[in-house]
Amino acid sequence: MITVIGAGLAGVEAAWQIARRGIGAQLLEMRPLVMTPAHRTGDFAELVCSNSFGSVLPDRAAGQLKWEMEQMGSLILTAARAAAVPAGGALAVDREKFSATVTARLSAEPLIEIAREEARELPADGVAVVASGPLTSASLSASIAAVTGARQLHFYDALAPIVSGESVDMGVAWRASRYTDAAGGDGDYLNCPLTEAEYGAFVDALLAAERAELRDFEKNDERFFEGCLPIEVLAARGREALAFGPMSPKGLDDPRTGRWPYAVVQLRQDNAAATLYNMVGFQTNLKWGEQERVLRMIPGLRAAEFARLGQMHRNTFINAPLLLTPALELKTRQGLFFGGQLTGVEGYMGNAATGLLAGVNAARRLAGEPLLTLPVTTMLGALCHYITHADSETFQPMKANFGLLPPLPVTIRNKRARYEAYARRAREDFLSANYANDGLKEVVR
Ligand SMILES: Cc1cc2nc3c(=O)[nH]c(=O)nc-3n(C[C@H](O)[C@H](O)[C@H](O)COP(=O)(O)OP(=O)(O)OC[C@H]3O[C@@H](n4cnc5c(N)ncnc54)[C@H](O)[C@@H]3O)c2cc1C
Repeated sequence: MITVIGAGLAGVEAAWQIARRGIGAQLLEMRPLVMTPAHRTGDFAELVCSNSFGSVLPDRAAGQLKWEMEQMGSLILTAARAAAVPAGGALAVDREKFSATVTARLSAEPLIEIAREEARELPADGVAVVASGPLTSASLSASIAAVTGARQLHFYDALAPIVSGESVDMGVAWRASRYTDAAGGDGDYLNCPLTEAEYGAFVDALLAAERAELRDFEKNDERFFEGCLPIEVLAARGREALAFGPMSPKGLDDPRTGRWPYAVVQLRQDNAAATLYNMVGFQTNLKWGEQERVLRMIPGLRAAEFARLGQMHRNTFINAPLLLTPALELKTRQGLFFGGQLTGVEGYMGNAATGLLAGVNAARRLAGEPLLTLPVTTMLGALCHYITHADSETFQPMKANFGLLPPLPVTIRNKRARYEAYARRAREDFLSANYANDGLKEVVR
């Protein structure tokens, strides 16, 4: 018997995959006895906000992830299709029908024992999957912190946007670190310079842009913004605050002028393949459409493709790069797996997918079989690789996107064609590795 904590998107997938392999799972869900500040019902896989699972188009990262999940027998995807509502190229659901379908399928599964109770501590031994999500209860959080170390458990996101390296205009930006010789063309940062007029226009747009609403439980938590002020809040404190803070030009000689620009936006490499760049100090809580509009005013980023936009919200997640293997098992305790938002993944489908993989590997661990790690050229493989190999000092959650995949052997400038090539390679590598029906002992239910 394997214990699964949390019947959200990840825990549901984990329990389902365990049962599909002929192994019993005990699924612990604290709702409706103990509610989180965001959930409203006692149903499994309740969607706390949007009712959309994102694109189904084959040449989008979200579409590719769904394809891989379908190959692996995802329950969340099957239930979402059964509860789908019209949404163009996206998969959106009637949320009540969706959760009811998931709850009914799990309740009817004889190998899954459902217990409506709060797991106040991690299981002391045995094989388990922890999928208690961004709003993990306080006592369980304390127990996780005791195992991971308190510094390795985070309670807030403060995400800065990430852009694809290919979309940065290197005719404008230049590579350099502060106080190094720019003529050498090396250095760790891509630097986007702004004149005084460009800086002024950027600050004006930032101050006028619409911000995302904070939820009540975030508004009331004074720790929320501590130490990581969003750029729009910083700009509101004084027009020059950004130029003296995250947009300081100090030590950055623009090779075109030989002088420091009025202000600079720095981009720091975010993955080993150098395909993604993080906007340094640019955590923001603007609405996503507004972010794209305002950030594209920055010279060098006019055609920026955003792999992730900024956001700030309450979120419990562990320092996965330090703590987890790509098979989602805790490095320091064999048999203890993590799935979902707790691993530092963003997005409904990515969270369901990591729950699925954690469930597969928990079953494999119990059966004494080797654990499954997907190729980094697949979307789920790349996501697991990222969260377990990112810089542990600056780690923040990440959603599925093609920028996580290793570069293609040839440069394809056209975005659509590039995405198609990523998806084609992902499918070929997934199929050739024959992960679809890995180790299934039971007929697929
Ligand atoms: C307010 C809010 C809005 C969000 N909006 C979006 C959005 O629009 N789109 C998006 O993609 N993502 C959104 N997210 C992130 C979203 O939560 C995840 O994408 C997804 O729900 C995570 O799946 P999960 O299974 O990891 O966690 P959850 O779906 O939250 O599931 C975790 C489950 O564990 C249970 N649980 C917690 N502690 C215990 C315990 N000690 N014992 C037993 N059970 C426990 C919870 O009740 C819950 O059912 C939002 C998050 C929040 C907090």
